Amino acid sequence: MATVALQDVCKTYPGNVKAVDGVSLSIQDREFVVLVGPSGCGKSTTLRMIAGLEAITDGQISIDGRVVNDVAPKDRDIAMVFQNYALYPHMTVYKNMAFSLKLRKRELGLKRADIDRKVREAAKILGIEDLLERRPKALSGGQRQRVAVGRAIVRNPKVFLFDEPLSNLDAKLRVEMRSEIKRLQRRLETTTIYVTHDQEEAMTLGDRVVVMKDGVIHQVASPLEVYQHPVNRFVASFVGTPPMNFVDGQLVANGDGVTFVFGAQRMPVRRADKNAAQSYHQQPMVLGIRPDIITTPDASTPRGDHLAALLVTVGIIEPLGDRKDVYLTTTDGQQLVARLPASVAITEGEQRKMYVDMTRAHVFEPGEAGANIAAGPTVMHAGG
Ligand code: ADP
Repeated sequence: MATVALQDVCKTYPGNVKAVDGVSLSIQDREFVVLVGPSGCGKSTTLRMIAGLEAITDGQISIDGRVVNDVAPKDRDIAMVFQNYALYPHMTVYKNMAFSLKLRKRELGLKRADIDRKVREAAKILGIEDLLERRPKALSGGQRQRVAVGRAIVRNPKVFLFDEPLSNLDAKLRVEMRSEIKRLQRRLETTTIYVTHDQEEAMTLGDRVVVMKDGVIHQVASPLEVYQHPVNRFVASFVGTPPMNFVDGQLVANGDGVTFVFGAQRMPVRRADKNAAQSYHQQPMVLGIRPDIITTPDASTPRGDHLAALLVTVGIIEPLGDRKDVYLTTTDGQQLVARLPASVAITEGEQRKMYVDMTRAHVFEPGEAGANIAAGPTVMHAGG
């Protein structure tokens, strides 16, 4: 078990491709941390640098307090599970799992019986004891995935590194394996760093998630914190399904509050620090509204003043069983989606009033990664 620390880590590939641009991150012992972001944001490169498979251009990486910049991968005491599993096709499951231990038998002071015990223990944990004599081609995708994990477990490493381990599986199996990996990590209590482009996978697996874009970390926090308090519009748009709605308008700071204005709509902003909002007075800004904070309270329930009215035309309705996604157009022609309980009576084509819970809405500066004004300016690397 171990801590992992990255300090101002950079990677520039030949051709001046800045894949990772000043990443600092401190991972606790036993923690499950997920690196997430769109394709090409530098997640795999970061993981590969921790593994030692990629040299770092600048900065420092430590595992368990030891700087490993110049330590060979095999001496870092980490085990990595790859997207393509990288199993040896000519070896049985047993031999695949035993291979790395056999290779270092003498160095690790292991006897044949020790290796056998470790392989069988790992196979038991993963429920693949019956498959030990099979070759990879006679296994399903999920079984191969388990073998790849088994190969990592037998080594009892200080740190597990997972690089998109589930992306070759179909959707249902992916969800099953996801909870299996989480259970396993809880049981083994091994520090784990996991890379995925899938925000749902990140949110369900991580104790903390690290949201990256263009080689830079935008936010490191618990899944709930990232969902409820995204530091900027990029994080807000990346996390959550359907994604957050963004409405263009202006912030107006008046005597007793702050209002977001667009078209003929005026919506009181509950979250804004009035002093901070002064500096945005009459600036073009963006209101962030998650689909589930748009509601239609019925007449019998008192509507608190945290709810702001929103006039819309109802577009397409997509039923989802217990809920439905409803597409809306504001009076000034902006598009939104609301996620409503299936029981709500609403009809395509009607014009009506909806309500937005303004205690849960966000105001962002303009631009793709505009800062959440409640979170302060986005903390970015100086070069980012
Ligand atoms: P991610 O895992 O988030 O999809 P990567 O870490 O694989 O991103 O890649 C980050 C950036 O570095 C991308 O622009 C990618 O094209 C580039 N890159 C990755 N590997 C190499 C390489 N070996 N040589 C040159 N550029 C690379």
